[in-house]
Amino acid sequence: MEKPEVVLSGSCMCGAVTYTSSTLPREMGNCHCLTCRKLAGAPFLTFADFPTSSITWTSGSSSLKKTRYSDIAERAHCPNCGSPIYMVYDHQKESIGIAAGTIDEGSVKGKLPKTGHHIFLEEKAGWYDLPDDETGRYAKFRAPFQERLDASKKK
Ligand SMILES: [Zn+2]
Ligand SMILES: [Zn+2]
Repeated sequence: MEKPEVVLSGSCMCGAVTYTSSTLPREMGNCHCLTCRKLAGAPFLTFADFPTSSITWTSGSSSLKKTRYSDIAERAHCPNCGSPIYMVYDHQKESIGIAAGTIDEGSVKGKLPKTGHHIFLEEKAGWYDLPDDETGRYAKFRAPFQERLDASKKK
């Protein structure tokens, strides 16, 4: 079988963890929840949403440090440099939120989507003012996501 075309690659700060993707992200969004803020050491963490099947781990995947800070999702970090790498929700494992800062922009064939929404603004850092970027703004999750999450818990 022919290898899928690589449209972008990414890496953690130290380079131990690398990946490629066969598709561009479907969308990008900023999460302002306290967990993301602590992990990023910044006012938010930006996630690029990909089909999980698009991502190929080219190094370091077996050493990824997996963590759970809630009962709905798993996150992964580079064990060496600590860079956040991804987050996957238990109820939609077919999607992966790659920490967008790990995307190596020089590798991108095509155009990355601009950040389209801000979520968990109820936990936003008081010292950070949102730019006037005309993107969607949500206190928690976006409604369709919350509905899927709620439905998965009722099962
Ligand atoms: Zn690293
Ligand atoms: Zn978050």
